[in-house]
Amino acid sequence: MDQQTSADRTVRGIFIDNQWREASAAIDVVAPAEGEAFTQIAAGTAADVDRAVVAARRALEEGAWSRMTAVERGRLLSKMANVVTDHAEELAQLEARDTGKPIRQARADMVACARYFEYYGAAADKLHGETLPFLNGHFAATERVPHGVTAHIIPWNYPAQMFPRSVGPALAVGNAVVMKPAEDACLTPLRMTELMAEAGFPEGAVNIVTGYGRETGAALAEHPGIDFISFIGSSETGVAIQTAAARNHIGCTLELGGKSAQIVFGDADLDAALPVLINAVVQHAGQTCSAGSRLLVERKAYDEVVGRVAERFSQVRCGTPEMDLDLGPIVNRRQQERVRRFCEQAAADGLPLLAEGQIAPGVPEKGFFVQPKLFGPVPRANRLAQEEVFGPVMSVMPFDDEADAVRLANATPYGLVAGVWSRDGSRAMRVARKMQVGQVFVNCYGAGGGIELPFGGMKKSGHGREKGFEALYEFSALRTMVVRHD
Ligand code: NAD
Repeated sequence: MDQQTSADRTVRGIFIDNQWREASAAIDVVAPAEGEAFTQIAAGTAADVDRAVVAARRALEEGAWSRMTAVERGRLLSKMANVVTDHAEELAQLEARDTGKPIRQARADMVACARYFEYYGAAADKLHGETLPFLNGHFAATERVPHGVTAHIIPWNYPAQMFPRSVGPALAVGNAVVMKPAEDACLTPLRMTELMAEAGFPEGAVNIVTGYGRETGAALAEHPGIDFISFIGSSETGVAIQTAAARNHIGCTLELGGKSAQIVFGDADLDAALPVLINAVVQHAGQTCSAGSRLLVERKAYDEVVGRVAERFSQVRCGTPEMDLDLGPIVNRRQQERVRRFCEQAAADGLPLLAEGQIAPGVPEKGFFVQPKLFGPVPRANRLAQEEVFGPVMSVMPFDDEADAVRLANATPYGLVAGVWSRDGSRAMRVARKMQVGQVFVNCYGAGGGIELPFGGMKKSGHGREKGFEALYEFSALRTMVVRHD
């Protein structure tokens, strides 16, 4: 993305106190399938971030937001579920152009988006403390209170899902939020923020400032007026966020990258597994934190399983959002080059290329398309077995037995998601429970939907949990009260 030298006062991106604000500079928004800019967003400054934080604080301490009950907050969130459903096609078209994903996927994202609002709308008045047995003559209880002003920094891969996933529970609990979406794709969060104001969210409850990570994002993470940070993005940026949080003595949740394993035993129902195994790395061109990018196959069934996976993988088709094929392009030129370098390195390392998908004829030449690739067997210490590609590249690796499968699955710095495929229920259960991950699937795979399911990582995949009821605990603090009455 190129920053424009001349100030553009018409671009959107800064929405504070329910009003669009002028931007002092703009960033081109490039459509990944077209490789060309089609609109602009604001390049927010530290001063813009400060204004947003001040507005949120005001909403929290003296605005209409501060007087709302849990049930009223819940009703507003529930209303947004209907608003998103009513605007689903408009939002899906925006999301598809902004991210490059097939329109079918963008439409599914809007269903998930509405569901986040529905879930947290219904949950808002269900969060409560408890009474505690304590000394005679004393009454003791806990209550859940909002952190205060919460900062939300999200990535570009699923902006329409990440936005309600992050701000939904925070608002349900009563925080006032400042969102910094990703500079590469943020048009649906911008539109939704505007829709939230129209739906009745009071001034200052929901604020958004677009801009570059190292400027706008860093200014938000480091702002002394922030009480909690929710971050979804790369493990590298996660370090900067955690450092900023530490300096201000506040908490944070970090939802970071992954190198997730799908373990296939010889007795797996391969017909059921095949489409799921492949979709796990093909969905949104592998630009999914929970992508199942490592396929671990029991050695005795290796040839059969890999043969069938390769056959199907070679049928995968990549195209524009409107072509609505299996996957779209990579988000930007830099990421496209990064994925290519991984593949070139794999070839230089002599890794056998088992199959590759095809780019559909007729896609724009400037689009950031890459051919999906299946490599294997990949040596366990190879980069392709250890590092997150964030592209449609799958590494196949054989394992000997149950113990070896567990060892291999856990042998990366990451710990986000794992999948186990076996008809032997006891074995699947044993293996699943040894996975060092935040979410594990048996005879299925997919964290994309599942709004009800707490989600998050271990190890380099981060800490804290979002989604599900668990997120309400993350976005609130526990206060204990003791009253002596005798
Ligand atoms: P990124 O870390 O570069 O950017 C994520 C967000 O952080 C963007 O909004 C960006 O502007 C901002 N940012 C960048 N540098 C910053 C800084 N110094 N201070 C504050 N903010 C900063 O990540 P990305 O490349 O946009 O996203 C891809 C990564 O996100 C992958 O590693 C992927 O696995 C991960 N991810 C994780 C989850 C999850 O739930 N675990 C979900 C989606 C993506």
